[in-house]
Amino acid sequence: MILSEELCIGCGECVVVCPGGAISVGADVACIDRDLCFECCVCHRWDGCPTHAFEPETSLPWPRSLRRLFSDPLALFEGTSVSGRGTEEMKTDDVSDRFAGDVLGISVDVGRPNVGTRFDEVERICAVLAEAGLRFAPDNPVTELMDDVRRGTLPEEIRDERVLSAVIEGLTDLWGLPPVLSALEKVAGNVDTVFSVGLIARTPGPDGIERLKSIARGARGCPRPSAKINLGLGKKSHGSSDCP
Ligand code: SF4
Ligand code: SF4
Repeated sequence: MILSEELCIGCGECVVVCPGGAISVGADVACIDRDLCFECCVCHRWDGCPTHAFEPETSLPWPRSLRRLFSDPLALFEGTSVSGRGTEEMKTDDVSDRFAGDVLGISVDVGRPNVGTRFDEVERICAVLAEAGLRFAPDNPVTELMDDVRRGTLPEEIRDERVLSAVIEGLTDLWGLPPVLSALEKVAGNVDTVFSVGLIARTPGPDGIERLKSIARGARGCPRPSAKINLGLGKKSHGSSDCP
């Protein structure tokens, strides 16, 4: 993000708007700490600056470009063609039958709300999940970045990039769930951020929700009534005639 020193009048209104704590006001004008900046564009989109001093950089170099992709919800991740940070299957509808049968999905939403994370922390979590037997979901932005999907490792050059959040997604089953949750419990004390864990499954039939709750309880989880439930509105394939 570029902050124009010529335009800034140092009013300080933008400081609280920045989720990254990256803006500070010096003697006369505000400035942005580039290391802390998520490139989320909140300051620009906020439109509260009296002089419109914020301007996003049009073309961010690699690997800094990842900051915007993982922090600006309007940015489109080219590898997945999905805006935001999760896959279509977990966010809206299981269009590819990913969670058919006894397959359970796990999502680990790292850095949210408003704490942020760096990819070295994301990698630490991925590594313990891989060791616990989680299979990383295809088409997920974090999976797409991995240089070794079996071990959950990320390229060295991206590890210091700071992002607002990153969603790790993986697949397991009823028997694989306890070791995955135990691994997450252990790694929680070794990362300097927050994460929330989601359990993703289909809920067929009238007893579907009860089935999910018993799965979560059995794995020492604590299901919350605020769980997100998506109704099936997705298309199975482009051009399908039975879905408008
Ligand atoms: S709101 Fe605009 S003018 Fe005020 S300190 Fe921030 S950048 Fe400068
Ligand atoms: S782009 Fe986001 S993190 Fe960077 S200065 Fe603006 S609001 Fe703060």
